[in-house]
Amino acid sequence: MNVAAGARQAKPRRTGLVQLYTGNGKGKTTASLGLALRSSGQGMRVCILQFMKGAKRCGEHKFIERWPAFEIIQPASRSCFDRPEEERRAAAREALALASSLVGSGRYDVLILDEALTSIRFGLLSSRDVLDLIASKPVELELVLTGRGAPQEIIEAADLVTEMTPVKHPIDKGVRARRGIEF
Ligand code: ATP
Ligand code: MG
Repeated sequence: MNVAAGARQAKPRRTGLVQLYTGNGKGKTTASLGLALRSSGQGMRVCILQFMKGAKRCGEHKFIERWPAFEIIQPASRSCFDRPEEERRAAAREALALASSLVGSGRYDVLILDEALTSIRFGLLSSRDVLDLIASKPVELELVLTGRGAPQEIIEAADLVTEMTPVKHPIDKGVRARRGIEF
């Protein structure tokens, strides 16, 4: 093979894995934000799609307004907890359909589905919905799902599973959610 032909060879494809950040302790969403920062620092294209959430007052939203290093998409205009059951389900399905199109889009190297596991826990999505999403993942895509209570079948389908274990949480001594720490 001559050098010119070699130079034209495509870079080897990266293998993306499936990661879960689950458990009852604090740190799932913030771990995914740390990963977003690290990956985008390495020039990777990162998107965070937020299930169930519907507020843009979190520090991460304010951050990307100033430094748009990655995308955060929040398809719902308000939290699913402020809506009747039917609307919650419709919002979850809408987020799932969007997740499915983002997975197949080739636009990202890292796709984080924040609180997708929580949506299963609240009965808004089924494990099957998320397993189908995982099965449709292109080889190169790193897919990260967060939320409490990952079902066993999704744990089995994932490559990396971290369970956050609460040892102490300040809420137990009455400390409310703090700006810049919890939101
Ligand atoms: P964070 O966004 O801070 O990384 P998380 O994603 O792990 O938290 P969630 O399960 O999404 O946590 O819950 C959202 C909120 O609940 C956060 O404000 C978090 O600080 C709080 N929280 C997390 N763990 C506990 C706990 N063990 N007891 C009470 N509240 C908690
Ligand atoms: Mg979270």
